[in-house]
Amino acid sequence: MTVVTSRDAETIIIGGGLVGTAIAYGLARQGCKPLVLDGGDRDIRAARANFGIIWVQGKGPGMPAYQRLTRRSSDLWPDFARDLREFTGIGLDYRCTGGLSFCLGADEFSARSAVVQRMSEEFGEATYDTEMIERSVVERLLPDLRLGQDVVGAVHCGRDGEVNPLRLLHALQTAITTLGGSVLGDENVTSIVPRTGSFIVTTATCTYHTPKLILAAGNGTRELAQQVGLDIPIRPQRGQLLVTERMAPIFPLPTVPLRQTAEGSILIGSTQEEVGFDTGTNTAGAGRMAERACRILPALENVNIVRHWAGLRVMTPDGHPIYAQSPTFPGAFCTICHSGVTLAAAHALEIAAALMGDVLPDHLKPFHPDRFHVSAAN
Ligand SMILES: Cc1cc2nc3c(=O)[nH]c(=O)nc-3n(C[C@H](O)[C@H](O)[C@H](O)COP(=O)(O)OP(=O)(O)OC[C@H]3O[C@@H](n4cnc5c(N)ncnc54)[C@H](O)[C@@H]3O)c2cc1C
Repeated sequence: MTVVTSRDAETIIIGGGLVGTAIAYGLARQGCKPLVLDGGDRDIRAARANFGIIWVQGKGPGMPAYQRLTRRSSDLWPDFARDLREFTGIGLDYRCTGGLSFCLGADEFSARSAVVQRMSEEFGEATYDTEMIERSVVERLLPDLRLGQDVVGAVHCGRDGEVNPLRLLHALQTAITTLGGSVLGDENVTSIVPRTGSFIVTTATCTYHTPKLILAAGNGTRELAQQVGLDIPIRPQRGQLLVTERMAPIFPLPTVPLRQTAEGSILIGSTQEEVGFDTGTNTAGAGRMAERACRILPALENVNIVRHWAGLRVMTPDGHPIYAQSPTFPGAFCTICHSGVTLAAAHALEIAAALMGDVLPDHLKPFHPDRFHVSAAN
């Protein structure tokens, strides 16, 4: 027999992935005692399946506000990582060395150049941190690698970096509880009932009452958001990843699609597939990733693959984040992004504070989902 209990909480965050825990940590740093209700191990969880790069280049085409948010997060990352490490004793393997996206062939190089040029113009400031570099410059940045002949150059951004995402999640959970908050697993929310000035949040074992609710349930957010009057148009996008056996350190910086972990494995990423909620892996995806990886670094042909997994990104129609407040139940907020590693510092150190207020600040307005509901007459 399950005994259903009742409990009050000053703020409830639904979802204990990297978005939910980063925001909860930020709230806890400000003296709030957040309660994070997370699902179980059989849930779809991007926080446990990602590539671990803090990636600025390429983020925000068509939305300069997202370009600025990503850069702000990258700039906050050193303090964020240091504080978390000092507070929890958990090392994050964080480093900000700059990063590269390889271009194979002249067509790829010129297509990427056009995107960088357009984003630079949209950003609209005199200096831009992302640039195209020729093969000879790539070789100087990666002196221990013998690149394949197809590599003609790369996109380079000095603000890109990397982290161990599982250690990050562990550190955030530890910090939240040490600061007086709670993270409860296997506590799937089955319904939210808005009342005047409060919400009744129900799970299989407990009924919670809270005046403030933050939805950060990744791909589970859409249904929850509808219950507080928010239409959040998200879809899952599958990403498969390969992991090699451990090797001596050869990558001094992260690249797309190759990143060497602190332990020595090389992560080979990642597919972008529209297959709904299918988390399966397949040889076709593995083959495409392995083929591109070997064109970049032919020595990988002799390296063993030891793992292959897939996760589901949380995708909005334009790929940019959503920060929204319910118009009908203003105590409810929603946070969605497909870049929760990159944005973790901003979520903890700035967005959390914004969610403490009664109204979302102006600089977050471009991220409202109203942008997807512009009528044809406009
Ligand atoms: C293959 C891949 C590679 C990626 N690489 C990168 C990268 O290199 N850099 C980067 O910045 N980002 C990357 N991402 C994205 C990143 O992993 C996510 O943005 C990040 O994990 C944040 O996700 P989230 O917290 O929104 O969702 P999730 O991590 O999916 O967490 C959502 C949580 O909500 C819980 N939940 C769902 N429904 C309910 C409910 N009803 N009640 C209670 N709890 C519920 C789930 O149990 C889950 O724990 C990648 C993602 C994938 C899939």
